[in-house]
Amino acid sequence: NKGVIFKAIPDGYPVIGEHIELVTREIDIKNFPLADGDILIKNQYLSLDPYMRSRMRDPHVESYVDAFKLGKVLEGHGIGTVVKSNNKKYQVGDHYHGFIGWEEYTHIPENAISGDEGLEKEISKSELPKSHFLGLLGMPGFTAYIGLNKIGKPKKGETIFISAASGAVGQVVGQIAKIKGLCVIGTAGDDSKIKYLVNELKFDGAFNYKTCNTDEELTKLCPNGIDIYFDSVGGETLDIVLGHLNTNARVVACGMISQYNTKNPYGVKNLMNVVTKRLLIQGFIVLDHYHEMEPFQKEMREWLKQGKLKYKDDIVEGIQNAPEAFLNILTGKNFGKAVVKIC
Ligand code: NDP
Repeated sequence: NKGVIFKAIPDGYPVIGEHIELVTREIDIKNFPLADGDILIKNQYLSLDPYMRSRMRDPHVESYVDAFKLGKVLEGHGIGTVVKSNNKKYQVGDHYHGFIGWEEYTHIPENAISGDEGLEKEISKSELPKSHFLGLLGMPGFTAYIGLNKIGKPKKGETIFISAASGAVGQVVGQIAKIKGLCVIGTAGDDSKIKYLVNELKFDGAFNYKTCNTDEELTKLCPNGIDIYFDSVGGETLDIVLGHLNTNARVVACGMISQYNTKNPYGVKNLMNVVTKRLLIQGFIVLDHYHEMEPFQKEMREWLKQGKLKYKDDIVEGIQNAPEAFLNILTGKNFGKAVVKIC
């Protein structure tokens, strides 16, 4: 059973072999001991997400999600097939959608079963790629939907600016904003991502923040200012955007990935705009909204049926490639939703 363990707490970018490491452990599936209610899963797809970096911390530092345990296998959202079951709800061959380990097989005790029954039935029948249930129709898609609608409160004709726009969350934010009649401008750190945003997702404008001047591009692409900033990066980009926001603009503080691996956090200077422009800057954690999943699932499926949504997954094969794929998210080498196809 190949898997990736959490070996040591990083204080910058995690290093493979030093902080996270691939290990192989014996597993006897036929004789695997299961207590009442437990299941054993053969993992198929594992979602890799930026929040996992925040779990690689000192367990004494409190946060909305527990720290990973040193010496144990890392975990994340995933999809698998039940290969052994002592649980009435799951038969061998059923799909499981919930928390799994970064490994080939995961033993899930009854009290840790987090599967979503409705979604599991749908995954079995659906013609959509299974990976979409971890991205477009999973946590990242839901993050986009909740953040944009609840905090962004988009109105037709407004301008939205999106950072990390080609990523798991950003590509959904942009497309929903287009459906709602907004002018959509995005940024990403690679020219092929920019082409994708403009040519495939029909963004009204996009630029590469690594090769262009963000301030100049925003002046050019958002001549009427910005009404909503969907922020996934924080740092200097947030600082620059503050100067381009309109009165009563909303900042959806979704994430600050530019700060996740640094020992020298960026100090935002343009905060006075919050007062003078009556800005709303609001953070959110998608976990708090899972009870509001139903309208998201309904609306997204409708848009998918109407051909209004596209989604780019970035799939790597084999659990042995999970550590590098995870680092790629933190350095911008992923292009689309990062998923590991385990088998
Ligand atoms: P992505 O698929 O967008 O991958 C992360 C992307 O961030 C990279 O591809 C890279 O793209 C960009 N990035 C990485 N480092 C930097 C940097 N130093 N400066 C600027 N951009 C950088 O990830 P997700 O869509 O899954 O997540 C996007 C954000 O949303 C993250 O901040 C994440 O933590 C947050 N999030 C928050 C949730 C919540 O509940 N609040 C839930 C889910 C996600 P490029 O540089 O090419 O643009």
